[in-house]
Amino acid sequence: MASLYNPEMIVKRAEVLGRCMGVRRAVDLAMATADSDASRPVYTLGPLIHNPQAVAELEARGVVALGSDDIDERVRGKSVVIRAHGVPPLLRSRLEELGARLVDATCPRVIASQRKARGYASRGWKVIIVGDRDHGEVTGIAGFASSGWAVVGSPAEAEALELEGPVAVIAQTTIKNEEYRSICEVLARRFSGVEVVDSICPATEDRQRALARLAAETDAIVVVGGRNSANTSRLYTTAMALGKPSWHVETAAELPDEVFAYERVGVTAGASTPESLVAEVEAALVSRV
Ligand code: SF4
Repeated sequence: MASLYNPEMIVKRAEVLGRCMGVRRAVDLAMATADSDASRPVYTLGPLIHNPQAVAELEARGVVALGSDDIDERVRGKSVVIRAHGVPPLLRSRLEELGARLVDATCPRVIASQRKARGYASRGWKVIIVGDRDHGEVTGIAGFASSGWAVVGSPAEAEALELEGPVAVIAQTTIKNEEYRSICEVLARRFSGVEVVDSICPATEDRQRALARLAAETDAIVVVGGRNSANTSRLYTTAMALGKPSWHVETAAELPDEVFAYERVGVTAGASTPESLVAEVEAALVSRV
C-alpha cells in the first residue's frame, strides 16, 4: 500500500501526553530496585503499569508481576514494589509478616486520598469512594476507611446507597470531573453535612484537553498505549467523538495503511505509555516508504 504514503505528512504530538508523574516514579523506583537488588526478581502485585510492552521491558530487567492476590512464601526476603495505586494496610502488613522488603511506589496523590480516608475514619465518619470498585486504588483507599465505606460508580448507585452517619466522599484520582460532580450532587441531597474531597488528579484531564487542541490542528489522530489502559482507551473514545479518523495502537507495527494518506497526523498517548513507544510511532509515521 505504498501508494498511500504521503511525503508531505506533518506529525504533531499533543502538548501533554504519556506517562504521568506517579507512573514514571513507580517505574523508575522498580528499575532502580531491580538494578541494585542482587536477590532479583523484584516483585510487583499485579502489573506495575497498564502497558504490555513496558511490562515486558520490566520483566527483562528483573521486575516480575505476581497476581494482585497471589502472595505467598515467594516474597520472603524479596523486594516487593507497591504500585502507584497503593494497597490497603492489611495487605501491607501481610507482606511484612511474610518477610518482604517493601518498596513503596504509591503515588503521592493516592497517599493523600488514603490519609483523608484514615482521618475521616478516626472521627467515626463513613467514606464513600466514587470510582471503579474493582480498581486497586479504590480497594486500597477503602482499606483505610475503618469506620465503614461504600463505592459508587454512577448517580443511580448514589441514589440507591444506604449508609448511616456522617459521610465524606473521595474520588478515585482518574475519574472525570463531570462524573464526580453529578454523583456528588446526588450524595449532597441524600446525606446532610456530606464533605467532598477534591481528589481528582489533573493528569487525565490535562491529556484530554491537550487532545482536543491537537484534534483542532490535525486531520487524524493516533493514540498510543496499552489496550488494557483505561485512560488510553478514553483518549481514543474522545478522539473519535471529536470527529477525527482515529486509531488506537500499542506499537508502530499496528499503524494501519490508511493513516499514511493524511497530511497532518496528531499523536497522543495514555498516562502509562512509555516515551520510547511514542517516539517509535512518530518515527514510523514520517519515515514510511
Ligand atoms: S494519574 Fe495522577 S494519581 Fe494516578 S498515578 Fe498518575 S499522577 Fe498519580
